[in-house]
Formats: sequence, C-alpha cells, structure tokens
Amino acid sequence: MSLNESPTTAASAPRGKADAVPKDAAAVILVRETEGERVPEIFWARRGERMAFLGGFYAFPGGQRDAEDAATPVENSPDAETAAMIACAARELFEELGVLVARGADALTKGQLASVLDDLTSQRMSFPQLLAHYGLHLDARDFTFAGRWVTPPFSPRRFDTWFFLARCPRKQEPRVLTAEFESGEWTRATEAVGRWERSDALVAPPVLHALRVLSEGLTEETAARFLSVPQAHAQPVRRIEFMPGFICFPLRTPTKPPATHTNAYLVGHGDFVILDPGSPYEDEQAALAACVDELAAEGRAPREIILTHHHPDHVAGVDALRRHLGNHIRVAAHRQTAESLRGQVRVDRFIEDGDVIELAGEPALSLRAMHTPGHTRGHLSFYEARTGALITGDNIVGLGSVLIDPPEGSVRDYLASLERYRALLPHVKVLFGGHGAAVATPRAKIEEYIAHRLERERNILHAVCAGARTPPEIVARVYTDVPPKAHAMAERAVLAHLEKLEADELVARMADGSFIARAGERCGELNVS
Ligand SMILES: [Zn+2]
Repeated sequence: MSLNESPTTAASAPRGKADAVPKDAAAVILVRETEGERVPEIFWARRGERMAFLGGFYAFPGGQRDAEDAATPVENSPDAETAAMIACAARELFEELGVLVARGADALTKGQLASVLDDLTSQRMSFPQLLAHYGLHLDARDFTFAGRWVTPPFSPRRFDTWFFLARCPRKQEPRVLTAEFESGEWTRATEAVGRWERSDALVAPPVLHALRVLSEGLTEETAARFLSVPQAHAQPVRRIEFMPGFICFPLRTPTKPPATHTNAYLVGHGDFVILDPGSPYEDEQAALAACVDELAAEGRAPREIILTHHHPDHVAGVDALRRHLGNHIRVAAHRQTAESLRGQVRVDRFIEDGDVIELAGEPALSLRAMHTPGHTRGHLSFYEARTGALITGDNIVGLGSVLIDPPEGSVRDYLASLERYRALLPHVKVLFGGHGAAVATPRAKIEEYIAHRLERERNILHAVCAGARTPPEIVARVYTDVPPKAHAMAERAVLAHLEKLEADELVARMADGSFIARAGERCGELNVS
C-alpha cells in the first residue's frame, strides 16, 4: 500500500465486488474443413478436473488480455481495441495449443515453430517481439469476430470474452500445452452438439451457441449467425442450459458472500418445474417470470414451484411467481420446510424422500426427491437418473462454502447426506448447486466436501484435546485463516461439529456449556502434546 492510499478504504473494500468487474479476454474457435463435409470440425478441450471454475467442462482455448496485446501490430484491423483482442486471441491459441495463426508462419519448419513457442513461454521475448524477429505478422482477416460474451454474475471471476473463429493452418496440429486442459480433440460440430444433447459433455452458453452455428456449416452467413443473439453483444446471459432440460437461472439475492446470486432452475422439456425462485427484488422476479413465459411460449407447461429448503434467498420470489402464474401453480417442499415457512410462504404439497416427479416431454425427465438434511432439516435434493443430474441445493454449491448452523444445521445429518450423494456415483455427471456454476466433476467435488468436513472435525477434536473448551477458543486455534469479523459464523460451525462429536461420545458438554475431550485414545492418536 502506498502512503497516500487511505488504509480505511483498502480495508473496507469488499473483495468479491472488486473481482466482479468483467476482465477483457479472448477465445478462439479453431476450425478445419474436410473435403466433402459441409460441417467443419472444431477443436475443443476438456478443462482440468481441479479447475475451480467450470472444471470438467469442454471449452475453447483463450485467456485474459495482457499488457503486450495492445502493442502487437495487427494488419487490416478496424480499430485498436479489436486489434488488441485479436493479438490476445492469437497469443492464447499459440500458448495453449501450439497453433500460430500468423502470416508467414507457413514458411517455418516444425523445429522453428517449436523454438518460437519456447521463446514465448520462457519469456525470452514478448509476442510482438517474436513476430517481428521471425518476420511474421497478424492479420485481422484471419480472425472472424464471433461475438462478445460476459460471464454470468454467479462467478466472482468474470470475463468479457471476445470470440474469434480461425482456420487451423494446414501444416499445424493443435495439442494441449496448458494445465488448464486435461485433453483436447477435433470433433465435428454436429457431433459435439450431439454429445451435449446426450448429457455426455457440458459446455458454457457461448460454446453451445458456437457449436450450433457451426452445425449449419461454414457459409457466408456464419459470422452474422454468430452475432444473431443479444448475448453475443455482451448482453447478460440469463438462461444457462448447461445440460438439456436443466436451465440454470441465477437471480440476484441478498445471500452470503462471496455469492451474490442464488440459482433458480427450470427443469423439464415439456412439463417443467421451477426450483427456488429466491429473489426478493422486483426486477429479478420479472426476469424469471419472463423466462417462464418464454418456455410457455415454446409450448412447455409450468407445473409446480419446488423449494429445496426454506432459506430466504431460495424462497423470496415464490409469491411473486405464484401471482404471475395466476395463483394456479402449486408450491411443493418437504414438510419441515413448510413448517419453517409457516406464516410466510404457503406450501401446497409435501415432498417426501423417494417421491418421483415425472415431467412429460421429449425426452421425459424423472426427478427423484431425496431428503438430505444437514444444511437445514427439510432440505431436499433431486436426482435425474437418465441424465445423471443431481440438484444439490445448498448442500453442495459451485461457489463459496456451506454453512452448518445448529440447531437447524447438523454435521451428522450433513455427512450422511453427502454419503447418499457419494452412493449415486459413478452415475452422476453434474451437480447443480444453489450458488455458482454447475460442477462437472461430481466425484472430486463430493469427496472434497466429505474430506473437508472430516478434517475440520479432526482439527476441532484436536483443539479440545489440547484444552480449548469453548467455540471461541477453538476458532482461535483452528480457524487461523479466518478474519475476526467472520468468527461469529465460524463459532456456529464449530458448535455444529461439537454436537456431532458429543453424539459420537468423543467430547462431553459440561454444566457451564463448555466442552472437554472424552476421546481418550483418540487424543493420543491425534498426537496432542
Ligand atoms: Zn441455504
């Protein structure tokens, strides 16, 4: 921090908000045409399982704009900004797949191309220096503008991404060179759409749009078709169909940071249900109502509003949507959720564990309800076996962490619910949580959640064995990475763990409310000095 920067401003700047401004990025839709085939092949790559955002999704190469991009000359560019974004696209494509779309690159041997790449990745030379050194130049005519898409606000890391279509130079072959991707391949655009339709590959909205456009073949109209939807002009992406029949519709809500939105889901190809219309804000309620109307105009029928649990950020828009639909639509939830909502939101039908909600349509979907308490007592999850989609509510989220706050929250129940999710593996292909993007790596995510809770429990028991007797004392020892203002919430989480340890007879609660270890041998195993 510099001396003239106010320390108060720096300290009070909310971290999530600062990150939420979309950053410039570029991506390349790399295509190649084969003789006699109308539809081109595209090169797509699967994002690594460990990537925090959209891990396991199929995507195009690309990345954030850097300082040198504006300094890279691009011939025939309409303006300086487009030139910088083309330079960014070309550089990212070269770094991530080893493909250099530059005039003059045809004259380089494979060995020369490899050393150009080595000079770039080892930072011996910048991209513009390299191009000049090898007598190469970028030309805007090699990069067809295919739209600007902004990451929906359910992610704290957002990009304003410029997409460009580029033909793969004949003598070059793409290969995955970045840890961001675990594998990549050529696939015909129609086949890629087919894999998405079979719930066999998950993609973000701009990728799905590109695949659909290219499925119609590369023609003079291709560029116009890319730009034919408002989302391709940096307009907000509201309907996110990560998987056919499952529309994620993030709504702005007063929820727990870092999340700023709660996901509503519209599920079904014919009959459809609306899960968790949770926004209290009129503009957001209107946006959701418009989406419901759009689906109805496509011939689908809204059948029921379903609630995963009673928290305000999941139910605050129920009455507005009910009114919008002429009060005919029923609201369904678990009996315990209905009890928590008594006097606030009317629940018309109870859903029990094992109930199946059949949604007619092409294809039909069948949602099996699971009573999965832990975050709340009446928490429901839904599993669709044919597609492998698991709607996890707030038990597993794509962003932030899950709060277990007693007496409503119970770590014991929560772990049992996570175990039920685990038992559904390996059939699960995607997790749809109450916040953040969908998770295409269900096994890794479920195991990570279970391991995280067990580690927390071990650390808390360790602290009690070492003499910490109250939640504040335990937080001071275990949650060393948590800022003081979050301690009250951490103490609730510790209390939830202590209640489980008490039920497991590993700690005992004293008359004054403090806790002592009953772990005996377990304390020894924990290696407490
Ligand atoms: Zn919740």
